[in-house]
Amino acid sequence: MSTPVVARTRDELRARLAPARRDARSIGLVPTMGFLHEGHLSLISAARARTDVVVMSLFVNPTQFGAGEDLDAYPRDEARDVRLAGEAGADIVYAPDAADVYPDGFATTVEVGGGLTDVLCGDPARRGPGHFHGVTTVVAKLLNAVGPDVVFFGQKDAQQTVVVRRMVRDLEFPVEVIVLPTVREADGLAMSSRNVYLDASERARALSLRRALLSVQDAVHTGETSTERALATAGKVLADAGVEPEYLEARDTDDLTPATEFGPRAVLVAVAARVGRARLIDNIVIDPQTTSGPDQQSTGGLR
Ligand code: AMP
Repeated sequence: MSTPVVARTRDELRARLAPARRDARSIGLVPTMGFLHEGHLSLISAARARTDVVVMSLFVNPTQFGAGEDLDAYPRDEARDVRLAGEAGADIVYAPDAADVYPDGFATTVEVGGGLTDVLCGDPARRGPGHFHGVTTVVAKLLNAVGPDVVFFGQKDAQQTVVVRRMVRDLEFPVEVIVLPTVREADGLAMSSRNVYLDASERARALSLRRALLSVQDAVHTGETSTERALATAGKVLADAGVEPEYLEARDTDDLTPATEFGPRAVLVAVAARVGRARLIDNIVIDPQTTSGPDQQSTGGLR
């Protein structure tokens, strides 16, 4: 694949997309904050397979970081990102400056309510609903700037997918939302740009998040129906690794209300924990309709 074009401004982006729009070719969008790993690349590959023109946005969105979070430290490597995005099939990298995305006088926020943004990561005692308001505002702007037919997100950020789907539905964005499985390291750790914060011993402890989630799956496979009991077992897995969860919860996959039992409806089991400097999240969906889990193991590595 060739080197993608980097568009810095919305006008530049529009000009680059004009031929595709004129010829009614389909446009795919993969929003990212960069420092690409195979999770991001799986979204770009899927967009390449599904749509004619693939845009990856690269923007570390300040409004979704809270005070004291890692905005300044967030890992960045644009040259590498552009190269990897191109290899995975991106045609255009849209990398705007924060001052262009949020010019002086910017005063509009897109907020999804309905109990979707003030639970789990959005709980005011955790990242808070402002995190998701930052996400939905920037995703709304990206959808308007790019005008994609299809937008791709990763299941790793499960709550984000629920919130974005609701925004797209409620505000009638003319776009299809596709969510793809979590890509993992060979040992099961969910890939994340923040994994670079982990030293060797933290990296080992971080694996307990995945083990805890798998213990829930095992419990369900052996007939457990109580989410409370399954989560208690999972909590022990974390405690044994010296990891204190920010949350470890079972919730309905559609409306994020608490799930008390594993029954006919799909249940999202989500965990967040700080390990060293890294705040990590992971999740699993227990869905009686599907036999296999929603995510995949990765074997390859990035060059
Ligand atoms: P980020 O750059 O972390 O904002 O992520 C950009 C997109 O990549 C989001 O849709 C994430 O859900 C997705 N993503 C991040 N990590 C993974 C992963 N391990 N597997 C699949 N998708 C991921």
